[in-house]
Amino acid sequence: MIEKQPSCDDVAEPALLPVSVAQQRLFESLKPLTTVERVSIDDALFRVLSEGVVSPMDVPAQANSAMDGYALSSASIPSTGEASLTVVGTAWAGRPYKSEIRVGECVRIYTGAIMPAGADTVVIQEHVRAADDKIDIDSDVTAAKNVRMAGEDVEAGQEILAKGRSLQAADIGVMASLGIKSVNVFRRLKVAFFTTGDELQSLELHKPGDSLAPGMLFDSNRHTLAAMLKTLHVEIVDLGIVRDNEEDTRQALLKASELADLIVTSGGVSAGDADFVTRAFHDLGDVSFWKLAMRPGRPLAYGNIGEAAFFGLPGNPVAVMVTFLQFVQPALRFLSGNTDVFAMEIPARCLSKLRKSPGRVEYQRGVMRLDENGELVVESTGKQGAGRLSSMSRANCLIIIAAEKDGVMPGDKVMVQPFRGLMSA
Ligand code: AMP
Ligand code: MG
Repeated sequence: MIEKQPSCDDVAEPALLPVSVAQQRLFESLKPLTTVERVSIDDALFRVLSEGVVSPMDVPAQANSAMDGYALSSASIPSTGEASLTVVGTAWAGRPYKSEIRVGECVRIYTGAIMPAGADTVVIQEHVRAADDKIDIDSDVTAAKNVRMAGEDVEAGQEILAKGRSLQAADIGVMASLGIKSVNVFRRLKVAFFTTGDELQSLELHKPGDSLAPGMLFDSNRHTLAAMLKTLHVEIVDLGIVRDNEEDTRQALLKASELADLIVTSGGVSAGDADFVTRAFHDLGDVSFWKLAMRPGRPLAYGNIGEAAFFGLPGNPVAVMVTFLQFVQPALRFLSGNTDVFAMEIPARCLSKLRKSPGRVEYQRGVMRLDENGELVVESTGKQGAGRLSSMSRANCLIIIAAEKDGVMPGDKVMVQPFRGLMSA
């Protein structure tokens, strides 16, 4: 009888490492950036704050009117009946009324205008009887109404953006609104990557119209990796294709470790190939081969080469993307000082029947959308082979099916991990 070796298709293998345990090991061994640089807020989009941003001022800076109306002192409000007040001037947004008003006086005021000294209340124009330079108000006027107080939105000294935040457009606007021109952020991460395989044809060396040599395939992973890295706003170094031999792999890893904070490769980590990658590592660093309890993407190499972290992803194009999303993306966010590392997971109702064997968590490609009742539903993109990159291109989320599950029936709740927005059909 033939003695069978473990394979990627084994139903359950006790030694397989759960994804969450692998992620934990990752975070224990990674050291987030400490180098800080100061950048203009206009260059700060997607950069990670190395310290909290504190407001230097109150917002609004001064009390101002929330409505068009008349500004007055609450002491002018009659306890019963009506009172007649003299309109002594006008306050516009950007053109304040400069004098102080007294009891029995009021100022015509427009939204956003600073409250004149002596005024603490705005009565809206619809609630007064106005004639010439007089207005009549009654006892229904509420003191301190329709006034935005100084510091109501933000108080001077208040932390408005926390350390570890990746800055978005609104954050840039908030800083500008406070007069903050520059900000301290962590430096950008540098990531070097290459693909491995004797079967790979590089697009750069391919003439349009030429057919692929037998057994060759286009190196798509390098382009996928570059694109995924760009969405994470890191600096990238493309080291090309490395052929399946120990010395080339060693040289490429060495070069990558000198250039970058993190190295990502694809291919060469499955049982047959792993030998030359293992040998290539021999005196370069400390790398372990993880057999993960996930599908696609069981083999993954992880470790350190010099100062750089290393991820050897599997070669299959879908496995590359799935392992990137579960490991490389959180690792890069963690290293960059970002406190928000994991991809969002949300519940959805699955409309498809999904087949699966128990033992490993599966990440199947799905299309999520809101149904006619506004409920989040998800459908499979169909056949789930690890090489079918087009299924990933059609998908907008991964459907996560827990290790112990043996499938999903239509109507079951599942967790989905979105990687792009909701799509119309
Ligand atoms: P490997 O993990 O090196 O055994 O690769 C597994 C399979 O993934 C190969 O047989 C190829 O079909 C595919 N593959 C590997 N590298 C690439 C790549 N760079 N681009 C596209 N497909 C690849
Ligand atoms: Mg290979």
